[in-house]
Amino acid sequence: MISFKNQQIQGLALDIDETLSFTAGYWVEELSKNFGNPQKLSAREIFLKYRLIQKYPHWQTKEAEKWMENARSSNEIQKNLPLIANANNAVNKLNKIIPIACYLTVRPKNVIQGTKRWLEKHKFPKAEIIARPSSLPYEEGTRWKAKMLLKLYPKVLGIVDDNSSLIKYLPKTYKGFIFLYDIPRQKFNSKKIIACPTWEDVLNKAKTIFTKNNQFKTQSEN
Ligand SMILES: [Mg+2]
Repeated sequence: MISFKNQQIQGLALDIDETLSFTAGYWVEELSKNFGNPQKLSAREIFLKYRLIQKYPHWQTKEAEKWMENARSSNEIQKNLPLIANANNAVNKLNKIIPIACYLTVRPKNVIQGTKRWLEKHKFPKAEIIARPSSLPYEEGTRWKAKMLLKLYPKVLGIVDDNSSLIKYLPKTYKGFIFLYDIPRQKFNSKKIIACPTWEDVLNKAKTIFTKNNQFKTQSEN
């Protein structure tokens, strides 16, 4: 049940992993310790090369996959993940431009508690955490997230997310904004897909789109 649908807030959704938390940093450190890292790649290098840690060939083993599955479902681990520098300050600024309507994450529901603690610890704005039903496999996460975005529009006017494959799962008719965080500047077919290399870019673009005069014009424009 998503309770906030009944409330009168309208705003953006935020992804968490690799958008707010440097989850990959923690994972790479631990996976290297436990299973080795023959190419000696840093978290950033693995992230840039493979985007997803689980795609690093050396860790495509049963044991490493088991570690990852456990890490995904551990509340303790979520509580202690590193913060992407300044993401919390940026999000608090964003919240003044357009409210944070919810956190929308492919993390499973059973880690909402640890996730909530982490968000509180870093003083992120309070908002509901919408997480993947635990019965749904991790691999279905992005498809699920796209479906949620469709369903939540126009309460949720878009998302800030580092996962560009989200676009593949959204129909062309989707009216929300996708702020793709931490990807190089580039143009997409739709003006509503916006590449934002840094949080500063997210803030600047959001300011332009959601300023007072044309606030939420997205709904009447189509
Ligand atoms: Mg992410």
